[in-house]
Amino acid sequence: MKHAPLEKHPENPGRILVLAESLDKQGFTVEYVSRSVDVQEARRIALRIHSKGYIQYLEKLSRSNYSIIDEDTFLTADSLELAYATFQTSYDLALSLSEPVFYVSRPPGHHAGRGGKAMGASSQGFCLLNNAGAAVLGFKDRSFSRIAVMDFDVHHGNGTMEIFYEEKILQVDLHQHPDTLYPYTGYPFEIGAGEGYGFKANLVFNPFTGDDVYLRVLSMVQELLADFNPEALVVSAGFDGFLNDGLADLRLTEASYAALGRLIRNLNTHALVILEGGYTVGLTKGVEAFLNGLTGREVNYEPSRTMSSVRGEEAVRINEKTISKIREKALCKGGWVGEGGKV
Ligand SMILES: [Zn+2]
Repeated sequence: MKHAPLEKHPENPGRILVLAESLDKQGFTVEYVSRSVDVQEARRIALRIHSKGYIQYLEKLSRSNYSIIDEDTFLTADSLELAYATFQTSYDLALSLSEPVFYVSRPPGHHAGRGGKAMGASSQGFCLLNNAGAAVLGFKDRSFSRIAVMDFDVHHGNGTMEIFYEEKILQVDLHQHPDTLYPYTGYPFEIGAGEGYGFKANLVFNPFTGDDVYLRVLSMVQELLADFNPEALVVSAGFDGFLNDGLADLRLTEASYAALGRLIRNLNTHALVILEGGYTVGLTKGVEAFLNGLTGREVNYEPSRTMSSVRGEEAVRINEKTISKIREKALCKGGWVGEGGKV
């Protein structure tokens, strides 16, 4: 509640209330956990993925009551401590969980790169510290070697992608085509560098894409992840691709979010799902369908159709090509072979 914007802003405390009310209606027990954080400990972990200069910059801004980092991103005097709490909790959950956990939290994190803005983006898109990155660190500290990240927020997870771009962490990011949406990064040809070459799949969807096309790509993602056989999975869960959620142009509905939940369930691995975006209807209908999938409740949803003017077949082919490139490159480097993966 203390990380609140002064003016009308999509990323506000009301999001959690809307989501909690929806979970309550679905029969989930909603429990608010207030948690104090050891800031020095959280800071030490944050410095493993963020630059010292960036952390010092946030600390400096925290001395004011209210600061604007860029046109999207604000900070109150309490925001950094709260961001540390979310960051540390993501790390701790990854360190200890044995079954899938959906961590509902603010502020979001996937646009925060090493030094704040990532991959040339114009803003940090509401994000301060990278929570998905913290979860990856937690899983690493459990000595898991095959770690995957799936980001299904409608915006490219440019911060997380930048942080691990040269590491052998399989990252699958499904997002609206970067020519048409913030942060304007995450093209299919970007497949990683150095040790991470061949481990990054940027899967892109044109505006007005519906469940029909998205579900076909998801089945390829399911196969890729199953073959990779991750010991641990971090999910950046954004519900802003839901039809009319407000910030993007995809036409996804319950069918896609239920399938995403099922995909995670079927992987049957250590999975930490962290809330990123989702601002209106995505937080109610999208989350409900997602949790039905994740918890194995079978509900039949009618898939929405891609608008006829959108070249859906072309999108399926482009993403198919990216996924086959990932298989080929990662295999050439011996990335998955001999490490317990099934390929
Ligand atoms: Zn988003």
